[in-house]
Amino acid sequence: MNFSVKAWSNGGRARAGVLQVGSCPSPIETPCLLLSTRKGLPHFISPDLLPSLPSPHSHLLQVSPLHFFEALSPNTISTIGGLHQLLGLHEYGFVAVARDSIQCLPEFNSTNRVGASFETPRGRALIKPLEYMKLISSLRPNIWTTLADEVPAWVSDQRNKTSVDRTLRWIDECVILSPAGGAVFGACVGGSNIEERRRCAQELAVKNVSGYWIGGFGLGESMDERPALLNAVTVRGRQTFCIYETTCATSLQTLQIWKSLPEEKPRLICGLGLPEEVLQGVAAGIDLFDSVYIYHLTLGGFALTFLLDRFEEKLSKPRSNDTGGDGTKINLRATVYRKDTTPIVESCKCYTCQNHTKAYINHLLNVHEMLAQILLEIHNTHHYLGFFRSMRESIKEGKFEQFRQNFIQSRRDHLAKATVCA
Ligand SMILES: [Zn+2]
Repeated sequence: MNFSVKAWSNGGRARAGVLQVGSCPSPIETPCLLLSTRKGLPHFISPDLLPSLPSPHSHLLQVSPLHFFEALSPNTISTIGGLHQLLGLHEYGFVAVARDSIQCLPEFNSTNRVGASFETPRGRALIKPLEYMKLISSLRPNIWTTLADEVPAWVSDQRNKTSVDRTLRWIDECVILSPAGGAVFGACVGGSNIEERRRCAQELAVKNVSGYWIGGFGLGESMDERPALLNAVTVRGRQTFCIYETTCATSLQTLQIWKSLPEEKPRLICGLGLPEEVLQGVAAGIDLFDSVYIYHLTLGGFALTFLLDRFEEKLSKPRSNDTGGDGTKINLRATVYRKDTTPIVESCKCYTCQNHTKAYINHLLNVHEMLAQILLEIHNTHHYLGFFRSMRESIKEGKFEQFRQNFIQSRRDHLAKATVCA
């Protein structure tokens, strides 16, 4: 794996880079989206339809090793030849993350010094570093993250400290047990405690890893507190403290300087799904994001429709409150689409919009045909990849902050209009 930063937004930390992953046919530009998968394949897109997504930006697939826990044995997967052979996807890059924001959420109360606990479809599972690394060795992903003790935003400072101590120890254990090949991303945690996040980033910065996975987000923290938590690990800083010296009755000033995660290595985050959340992450210098937002939209029958390239245009008037949408997405279950013979987005080049109408997808949803979710996931993935392309272009042009403000304002106005109509 190779990574290099090519451009920074004017006066900010948003950055555009290039990531080269061994099995991908060409370099992938960042910030980019990892396609969320279940056991290695996108939730509703079959392997024969994967090439219809924009290449190479759809070639990074996120997989959770927890999906394979108690499934095929590590020996069997290893004998087959790992994930690429198992799934027959030789030109895709697999990123194994020790968490799945859809099915396998961390269960902090049951995590202990031995291993990390997760709520899974098969019940609660305690994963020890040794078991985790056996799975990683058999799956042979291109990139993998170390095991982490992720905690929600409301835990005590002491629990945050324990979380950081355990995670740092597990990084060392995972690295010692790591197989040859595959780039390791060290986990950075600390919950909602800024000091603990800084401590974790400082200690992680000197470890021998290829990149960083910023964990513990999307677990109850508010939008308002998130920038400070992100900056705690991506911005180096200094602070002056005054210490009152009783012996000589004078105050001494000490300067504390803390390091951030090194800029030359890629940063991955999970749990930021909404466009506004992704923009927060990009503004803080994050490069790779997961895509659970697409999964949730698709499952609800929603299709993304917001403008991709420019957000200065006059806002379109919501058609009526029975569209089930808010001007940025539409709900194709709504009866208004029963006779709508247009594609989801007229200018969209995706397979769904090139071949099918809203009326057809509405019909498929009404009769519970899985083809509805297949077509929606193709469109939503295509559209969200377009959003990432627009972000990258705005960074290269030095206009990321303008892009961000316009996008957020546009979405707010649409949501306000939709609320008035409802
Ligand atoms: Zn489309």
